[in-house]
Amino acid sequence: MAEKRDYYEVLGVEKNASADEIKKAYRKKAIQYHPDKNPGDKEAEEKFKEAAEAYEVLSDPQKRQRYDQFGHAGMGGAAGGGGFTNMEDVFSQFGDLFESWGMGGHFSSFFGGRGGQRVRRGSDLRVKVRLTLEEIATGADKKIKVKKLVPCTHCQGTGSADGKGGETCSTCRGTGRVVRTRSGIFGMMQVQEACPTCGGEGKVIRNKCPYCGGEGVVRDDEIISIHIPAGVSGGMQIPVEGKGNAAPHGGIAGDLLVLIEEEKHPALEREGSDLIYNLLLDMPTAILGGQVKIPTLQGEAKISITPGTQPGKVLRMRGKGLPVIDQYARQYGTGDLLINVGVYIPENLDKEEKALIEQLKDSPNIAPNSSDKKNFFKNIFG
Ligand SMILES: [Zn+2]
Ligand SMILES: [Zn+2]
Repeated sequence: MAEKRDYYEVLGVEKNASADEIKKAYRKKAIQYHPDKNPGDKEAEEKFKEAAEAYEVLSDPQKRQRYDQFGHAGMGGAAGGGGFTNMEDVFSQFGDLFESWGMGGHFSSFFGGRGGQRVRRGSDLRVKVRLTLEEIATGADKKIKVKKLVPCTHCQGTGSADGKGGETCSTCRGTGRVVRTRSGIFGMMQVQEACPTCGGEGKVIRNKCPYCGGEGVVRDDEIISIHIPAGVSGGMQIPVEGKGNAAPHGGIAGDLLVLIEEEKHPALEREGSDLIYNLLLDMPTAILGGQVKIPTLQGEAKISITPGTQPGKVLRMRGKGLPVIDQYARQYGTGDLLINVGVYIPENLDKEEKALIEQLKDSPNIAPNSSDKKNFFKNIFG
């Protein structure tokens, strides 16, 4: 798969462009690469889809924010998806916008496969999946119940009572398209449009299946197994191809888009692929050293505290963080677990304890000398 270009670069706008500027930039690109203007030009087609993908993200404040934060990885690239795979999707999504710009929809590219008739596609579905940091560390296999359109079993998804599918449409003689003359931004032209009788499918169903009303799909629950790759983060969207709504009359099913949500860990905080743990030592351990237990995603670990450990020190457990992944969810490293050391100064001592501390007060080793002071603040703030 080719490297994806930056969406701002695709539309030729600045990172801080306003919604209006983005819309104008997209209009320019849509006109430039419109298939009516570039018939049969594969490169223009790619550019047209690329611009639509960039506009889809940058015109949606939430998606734009996620893109600004995570780049393509935040847009569902985790499983290598995202974007428009065919022209029909672009027109079905932005048809109204094009109409308002006087460009009109565009139908000829809708036809393909199946001897030219229009193939219908089911819509995408979105589900949320909540993951713990432990699950994110290893990757997770989840079974989720999804309410969706599935092919009707009584008619095998054909929509006709006899299960054989529809009869050839008499309006378009089965081609699925009609030719009309219309005026558009490029002047008068002949355009092919989806046949109004059969909706472009080339077939009409006379004896409809009573279970699905002729649609070929019914609503039902489906248990779907999905694999979430290691290292994902909240806000990412993972597309599972073909697991969305089934399409009427045996078309192509939509995708299932899995939105990742992250559960808060009771002890560890996440910072990218690193984990943070705040360790509060008691005074004797900070002074004398010792062993302490640290929670990690792989279970409890013991670490040694060296004598004279200062508050503010950061200890690093290499490789105890989360997997570092690229936009295709390929792992190329592992983060660390960072331990922020604090030291608890007791507030309520009894008489005897206070007396013990008093005794220490006059020892020459208790008061910091000037180089100690320098090192201490350097460690914390430097
Ligand atoms: Zn049916
Ligand atoms: Zn027709």
